[in-house]
Amino acid sequence: MSNPQHNPLYRDTPLILSVSGVSKSFDGFKAINDLNFYLEEGELRTVIGPNGAGKSTFMDIITGRTRPDLGTVTLHDNDGHDMDLTKLREYEINRLGIGRKFQTPSVYKSHTVYDNLVLSLNRPRGVFKTLFYKETASDRERIMEVLKTVRLESRVKDLAGSLSHGQKQWLEIGMLLAQDPRILLIDEPAAGMSDEETERTGELLLSLEKKHSLIVIEHDMEFIRQIARKVTVLHQGHVLKDGTFEKVKSDPQVIEVYLGRQGKKSETK
Ligand code: ADP
Ligand code: MG
Repeated sequence: MSNPQHNPLYRDTPLILSVSGVSKSFDGFKAINDLNFYLEEGELRTVIGPNGAGKSTFMDIITGRTRPDLGTVTLHDNDGHDMDLTKLREYEINRLGIGRKFQTPSVYKSHTVYDNLVLSLNRPRGVFKTLFYKETASDRERIMEVLKTVRLESRVKDLAGSLSHGQKQWLEIGMLLAQDPRILLIDEPAAGMSDEETERTGELLLSLEKKHSLIVIEHDMEFIRQIARKVTVLHQGHVLKDGTFEKVKSDPQVIEVYLGRQGKKSETK
């Protein structure tokens, strides 16, 4: 169990998550096919790929929403313990510090921005305890820190329903941050955002690396360019390529399966 595998590209950096030899079929169709993926502690990784490549299923497998047919998903603890996530339930994986943000925002619209964050702090305690919740100074401090990070300090007393689409997405990222996750999984955060909101989202995600480990799925190539560190390209449930944005952008196979469809051929070397 405690034999962490090492990503050949990052041999000296501790891994936080290893996905090894994972496959998953739905009615005979291989949505995930021998997937190997290694995430470093504190890394910000972007995952791209055409529709149906298996990106969301990949997140479903990490978070325990879907169980793989084959392979292992291992969370590496800071003190050298490994945890096999494929044996755990969704809420147990969440409690280990893996938070996920789905594509559409799901904030409590008739509550204030502040109360949304209180609710997310208390999520593990349940609604009953939240009713009698007495705010502590450290909770308040934590919430204000999160509000600052997601740049919603000026909207603290406003109803979440009155926020713009982009601001709702940031609030939801804030709700994850309030729980101080080790790994954040974020599915297409820039979808439906204005250019300005997209850029601010990129800045927000960049500000989270090192403190958290992040996997960000995205389609918008301008956005990927802004936040790219190491980029992984998924195709037919398998890692087609990974490397820098420049490297994957000019890779002929990547262009064929992904970029080519978007007509971005002109930028290749
Ligand atoms: P992406 O997020 O990259 O667009 P998905 O992971 O959503 O791709 O889907 C990958 C493939 O797996 C698709 O062909 C999809 O139809 C299929 N798939 C995903 N989840 C299920 C499911 N629960 N049941 C059946 N097919 C599924
Ligand atoms: Mg998807």
